[in-house]
Amino acid sequence: MLTGQEYKESLKDGRKVYFQGRLIEDMDAEPGLSVPLNAVADGYDKYYSSAPDAVNPVVSAPRSVQELRDRIPELMELDLVLNVTYQSLMTVLVAAGRLEGAAPQYIPRIEAYVEKARREDIRITECITDAKGNRSLHPGKQEDPDAYVRVVSRSDDGVVIRGAKLHISGAALGHDLMVMPTKTMRPGEEDYAIACAVPVNSPGVHITNTTYHPLHGDPRDYPVSSHESMPDSMCIFDDVFVPNERVFLDGETEHAAVFAHSLGLWERLGGISFMVQQADELVGLAHLIAEANGTAKVSHVREKIDEMMIHATLLRAGLEAAIANAHSTPEGYYYPDDMFTNVTKYQGASQFGVMVRHLHDIAGGAVVTAPSMADFENPTLHPYLEKYMSTGGGISGEYRSKLFHAIRDTTADAYGGWHLVTNIQSGGGLYAQRLVTRKNYDLDRARALGLKAAGLAS
Ligand SMILES: Cc1cc2nc3c(=O)[nH]c(=O)nc-3n(C[C@H](O)[C@H](O)[C@H](O)COP(=O)(O)OP(=O)(O)OC[C@H]3O[C@@H](n4cnc5c(N)ncnc54)[C@H](O)[C@@H]3O)c2cc1C
Repeated sequence: MLTGQEYKESLKDGRKVYFQGRLIEDMDAEPGLSVPLNAVADGYDKYYSSAPDAVNPVVSAPRSVQELRDRIPELMELDLVLNVTYQSLMTVLVAAGRLEGAAPQYIPRIEAYVEKARREDIRITECITDAKGNRSLHPGKQEDPDAYVRVVSRSDDGVVIRGAKLHISGAALGHDLMVMPTKTMRPGEEDYAIACAVPVNSPGVHITNTTYHPLHGDPRDYPVSSHESMPDSMCIFDDVFVPNERVFLDGETEHAAVFAHSLGLWERLGGISFMVQQADELVGLAHLIAEANGTAKVSHVREKIDEMMIHATLLRAGLEAAIANAHSTPEGYYYPDDMFTNVTKYQGASQFGVMVRHLHDIAGGAVVTAPSMADFENPTLHPYLEKYMSTGGGISGEYRSKLFHAIRDTTADAYGGWHLVTNIQSGGGLYAQRLVTRKNYDLDRARALGLKAAGLAS
């Protein structure tokens, strides 16, 4: 296994990582990247063992419903890059189970890759979302054939790919990019049915980075995003060679969606686990600021917080249902139920705006205007700020302002805006969850009940 320091050294491998237009030599020297880099390094140190055969215990497939359930609190503590490494490996293992009988030649490659990845303690990010060009056209019909990642040539020892994967979380901080087709491909779109693991430092790979990490100002005014951030990337593949042993699907259009579907299961489990925690945090902030404002007992404020609690509890129930109704692959790996995972993700995403609205409604305008922590340190200002920001009864101005800063940072600033968009889009937009729900929902039963109610049942 690698220590955090060894991990950081391992990324100095000639990779082409860019930030704000500049090619970055040392991510640790770049404020927008060093915070997440060090969070990932801390994740290495947390699980490090010097035993020669040691592997990260997190990166193993759950073998029962209970193991799947037990994994959730641990997943919540992981840095995002270790989390997506876990998801990537689970994804290809579940996909391997689904390829059995259909495309068995890829199974030993996938198994060997997973084994090696665990042994070498690498980090892997998930590259599924293509540039996609005109959304109404299929990959093979695009004006630019590179709108979806595709194979541009094949040889005995591997393939060459071209295209780009967009919005990839933490791509610059991993070792491999797990490239997968974003959706079902049609006959004639064989070149787009490509799944493979690409080392980040492969010639032809270029990675941009965007971040909500506060690059200026006092970190104390950004109590969450100053220490919790993760860059999102465009991963560009400019004719990148991928050797056969890293190719897990090439040309089998009918199986292209297997990876996306499998990834969706793991991605959304992580997504809804986070949503459950986030919903509870929003309830907590709403309650704390209501207390600090002296409105905790006001009826409309209580009602809003009650509604927030109900939403948070329903999300928790959805997560539990997804786990309790888990399924297993032929190899005995347990994964959460598709339907419950998707409806919970949908509910969490579609209601997030309402949760934030309630919180802002309860909190008041100081969410965006509370004086900074540096203002509190100014000896002239301090007594005034304490006087006018405190609300009596032991609620100091600084205490209340810190709550406002946390609310602004997580719901009304760069990080808050990122959450608004990400809750909707990550793991696929709301439309994707509606499709899965319609596919799995027991409509026959519902129709039968409807007919019975109308006295039309035979
Ligand atoms: C912060 C963040 C992190 C992310 N991390 C990752 C990651 O690590 N790896 C990864 O692979 N992806 C990642 N994603 C990508 C995410 O999965 C996509 O944003 C999402 O699938 C939507 O794709 P899009 O952004 O291209 O939007 P679009 O596909 O343009 O969708 C926009 C809207 O149009 C609708 N739409 C699009 N095409 C059609 C159509 N043909 N028919 C009907 N409706 C349509 C969609 O449903 C949606 O409502 C991330 C996204 C965000 C915001």
